[in-house]
Amino acid sequence: MPSKKTATSKPKNNSKKPSDPWHVVSGSSIHNRGIFAAKDIPKGTRVLEYYGEKITKKESHRRAQERMARARETGEAAVYIFDINSRYDLDGSSVENNDAMFINHSCEPNCEAVQEGNRIFIETVKSVKQGDELLYNYGFDLDHWDEHECRCGSANCVGFIVDRKYWRKLLKIIEARAEKVRESKRNGSKKSAPVKATKKAAKKSAKKAAGVRKKVK
Ligand SMILES: [Zn+2]
Repeated sequence: MPSKKTATSKPKNNSKKPSDPWHVVSGSSIHNRGIFAAKDIPKGTRVLEYYGEKITKKESHRRAQERMARARETGEAAVYIFDINSRYDLDGSSVENNDAMFINHSCEPNCEAVQEGNRIFIETVKSVKQGDELLYNYGFDLDHWDEHECRCGSANCVGFIVDRKYWRKLLKIIEARAEKVRESKRNGSKKSAPVKATKKAAKKSAKKAAGVRKKVK
């Protein structure tokens, strides 16, 4: 997802960068910048931490709304918020040096986000070759699925950024939509029902809250 630099200075994260990191930040064919393996990485390696500012749900909701509004205007801003428990979230875009925020989503990831207390780490789930892009599944639920198109390019890409556990449900929804379109084509312009349905869906979608990265496993 795209990032947006703000003029306000960000709080520094306290941790020092490792002198010999597993990863490098570079341009990605999936989206904008990505994170790549600086060397071969074995399966089960803790590659980097997803740093962030611990914020309340209320503040998280406010920031998400603000950033999604900005995204609709500029197409630039994005939300980088992790759900860490029922009271707090982690805002990955409000601290410096959070390289992990550049990791792209994939339907066939080679990493996963692992939560330990209030901290989140990115770990490999398979061995990764030097130069490969590091990817994990963002774990989004179905709330805003059609606002997050997936361009991961994997053979089994489901087309949208959605947690694998919702894929079956998502495919049913997509098929139902396609059927509705086919039906409206068959019926020509006589019926207004499909148009109404679309308007209703758009309204509903606009009313929904901004997309927030859901709880990691
Ligand atoms: Zn995909």
